[in-house]
Amino acid sequence: TQEELFCIGCGAKIQTTDKNQLGYTPSSVLKKGLETGQLYCQRCFKLRHYNEISDIQLSDDDFLALLNQIGDSDALIVNVVDIFDFNGSIIPGLHRFVGDNPVILVGNKVDILPTALNPNKMINWIQKEAKEQGLHPIETMLISAKKGNSVDELLALIDRERKGRDVYVVGVTNVGKSTLINRIIKQTNGMQDVITTSQFPGTTLDRIEIPLDDGHALIDTPGIIHAQQMAHYLHDKDLRLIAPQKQVKPKVYQLNAGQTLFLAGLARFDFIQGDRAGFVGYFDNELYIHRTKLENADDFYGKHLGDLLQPPHPEDLADFPELHRYEFSTKQKSDLVFAGLGWITLPADVVVAGYAPKGVSVMIRKALI
Ligand code: GDP
Repeated sequence: TQEELFCIGCGAKIQTTDKNQLGYTPSSVLKKGLETGQLYCQRCFKLRHYNEISDIQLSDDDFLALLNQIGDSDALIVNVVDIFDFNGSIIPGLHRFVGDNPVILVGNKVDILPTALNPNKMINWIQKEAKEQGLHPIETMLISAKKGNSVDELLALIDRERKGRDVYVVGVTNVGKSTLINRIIKQTNGMQDVITTSQFPGTTLDRIEIPLDDGHALIDTPGIIHAQQMAHYLHDKDLRLIAPQKQVKPKVYQLNAGQTLFLAGLARFDFIQGDRAGFVGYFDNELYIHRTKLENADDFYGKHLGDLLQPPHPEDLADFPELHRYEFSTKQKSDLVFAGLGWITLPADVVVAGYAPKGVSVMIRKALI
């Protein structure tokens, strides 16, 4: 029988079979590591050498155990959300788990917002939505983990608010939490050797701790998989469509009632009733948008899903859910938001419908621009 080996970085049991699970180490590295007596799992190796953090799969149970643990400690919580996918970023019931601990809500990816958008309006909207979910952050701010916008301010805010406590950074996958943690590591000099990972007692979770000057730490927690994200319906290569990397350029469509826009095959917009008007789409610049007649739209979708209307790709059609329809009428200028994809700004006094895969939210808000 083989002797059990443990990573000297995080303590996870070394295994060579599943690279998505804790303790994964390629066999070739295992051999070398045994010779030198220094065995790191691939995740810790990457962390030490490239300041890179890779994702490890977690079950919801693991995550709930982790959240409970946070609720039991006296800590400051930093909840990172994606402002392009707010409803796909919310952690259901977070307010129950964090207990009395204060929460800073961080809206990430501000760099992709169109120039015309006033950030304060976005902040107000996020705060309103958070409140509806029962979350009462002590502060809400927008950052770009990727470009670095306001990351210094965030660190200063954390320092001010943590009052001698640990800091837990929480978020669902794809919100940019790893990007943020990596940036914090880079901005805090000489961290490479002091980063430690350790295990939560009673769970298989490991965590990354960035030590703070008073013996406390900023603790990265693994991202939870949020079932209601558009991301789950896409291939890796298409994820860029819902994680725009560049600033979003608005596109204007002059529409008459009775016209439909398909957002590739992922979502649909019907203009049902109202005067001819301009509708402004805010989506990834590469997302294919197809205009057609409402009366033919169902047929068109059936015929062209997977070819002209792509993604989804032909090989994924069997798993791609039917689109769900939601109808709205506007009293004022409003945004119809397709969670994770973007939004369309509508004029007042129109009736429209938005469609998205089941579970992905479509909703209306007061226009941000
Ligand atoms: P995690 O799953 O929360 O750790 O998310 P990642 O850090 O892996 O980021 C998910 C995706 O969002 C990647 O494609 C990142 O490049 C992108 N991303 C992360 N932060 C930002 C940001 O501030 N702006 C933009 N435009 N993209 C970002």
